Amino acid sequence: MILMKYISTRGGINPVSFSDSVLMGLANDGGLLLPSEIPDVSANLADWRKMSFVDLAFAVMSEFTDLPHKDLRAILSRSYLSFRHPEITPLVSVGNIHVLELFHGPTLAFKDVALQFLGNLFEYLMKSGGLHLNILGATSGDTGSAAIAGIKGRDRIRIFVLHPHGRTSKTQELQMTTVLDENVHNIAVDGTFDDCQMIVKSLFNDLEFKSKYALGSINSINWARLLAQVVYYFYAAFRAMDITSADRVSFSVPTGNFGDIFAGYMAARMGLPVEKLVLATNENDILSRFFQTGVYIPAEVQATISPSMDIQVASNFERYLYYKLSEDSGRLRDMMNRFESERRISLEVADGEKVDDLINACSVDTVSTLRTIGDFYNNYGYLLDPHSAVGVCAGVQNLEKRVPMICLATAHAAKFSQAIIDAVGKDIAKHPLIDGLAGLPTRCLVARASVDEIRSCIEAVCNKGAND
Ligand SMILES: *Cc1c(COP(=O)(O)O)cnc(C)c1O
Repeated sequence: MILMKYISTRGGINPVSFSDSVLMGLANDGGLLLPSEIPDVSANLADWRKMSFVDLAFAVMSEFTDLPHKDLRAILSRSYLSFRHPEITPLVSVGNIHVLELFHGPTLAFKDVALQFLGNLFEYLMKSGGLHLNILGATSGDTGSAAIAGIKGRDRIRIFVLHPHGRTSKTQELQMTTVLDENVHNIAVDGTFDDCQMIVKSLFNDLEFKSKYALGSINSINWARLLAQVVYYFYAAFRAMDITSADRVSFSVPTGNFGDIFAGYMAARMGLPVEKLVLATNENDILSRFFQTGVYIPAEVQATISPSMDIQVASNFERYLYYKLSEDSGRLRDMMNRFESERRISLEVADGEKVDDLINACSVDTVSTLRTIGDFYNNYGYLLDPHSAVGVCAGVQNLEKRVPMICLATAHAAKFSQAIIDAVGKDIAKHPLIDGLAGLPTRCLVARASVDEIRSCIEAVCNKGAND
């Protein structure tokens, strides 16, 4: 077997191994890392269909990684122990769609599927290389808690998460600040999410600081996160084929950073028989506008009831563009450079043609999202969270005869109980993990929105650790 190498979308780095790509995060030339080729797994599908989630994860990932097989297996077995469902990501038929429940992990959101794996993977890489890592990230809510849950209590890794003080939901704040493990450092910044992101970006750009403190990143530009997500596209397609005896499936994916849906795009390119990928956005519709017109122009971010999708510039979109431009990194680099100055990308689309035959794009507004939550509760007794409801609404609009529609459910409704109250008029979205947060002790530092102040916080923690 030839080991997969990783290249940058912008063509400016020498190919690196999987392990190095995980530690690099963003490619050193500013691009995003991708496997140098996409394996064709069509011949494996019949075997893979019989596998459990963890065995399938091993089969999919061993196409892409350089880890010794027994180590990869051990990492995967550990990673999914924290899920509360034996199937990890079960597929549930509701009305005439299939809901892929991705929220059975420790923080009740789909990001756990990747971040539980990434936490174990980081720990393994640090141990085997005798290294240490300080993870630094900014969050508007969901990513922070899933990252903390993936990293807490691990050897050789600390995590620093910046959130805007008082601007996340109370539930999101408690999911982060009630984690008291020594290696977890929450910092509430007196400012907005943009301030938090700006501070994190400046610290990563301070190359001396970055290397002195071995800063690492856990956001969805990390290829290992996407790889973990490719697995459930295969798993769900097989379950839908078992139930319906169809030989092709479609997926509807609520989208923010184009991470989750890009994993589906990879699964299709690997040979999974995917009829359509439905890309569903909320009112922040830059991606759905792009797939309808070929023009990509950011607008102001609007706050919605599906806050984890309130994103304009989608960090993983560059990966898709690279393939769209036939893997021409020179053209891609020009396009991204021009985007920096002109804030606009446009592709030529012939009359009557689509940007991509595989992708149907749809923007779903708040009224339709609430109506979808209400309908699914009233008709089927099934509660959708507002992010999942955006995907379900778009999925229902794109139903085709004899093609099962798999709608990705990305969070448990209890995480967004206010939207449920607005949709069905009752406070019925409950989960013991959320109810149990009230009254727990918390730990969190409060800091001004200043790069220097956050830099000092990190130095203080790391230097104290060194003297213990
Ligand atoms: C992060 C998130 C999304 C969007 O995922 P992307 O990979 O950014 O497209 C959707 N729903 C929930 C609940 C999320 O936390």
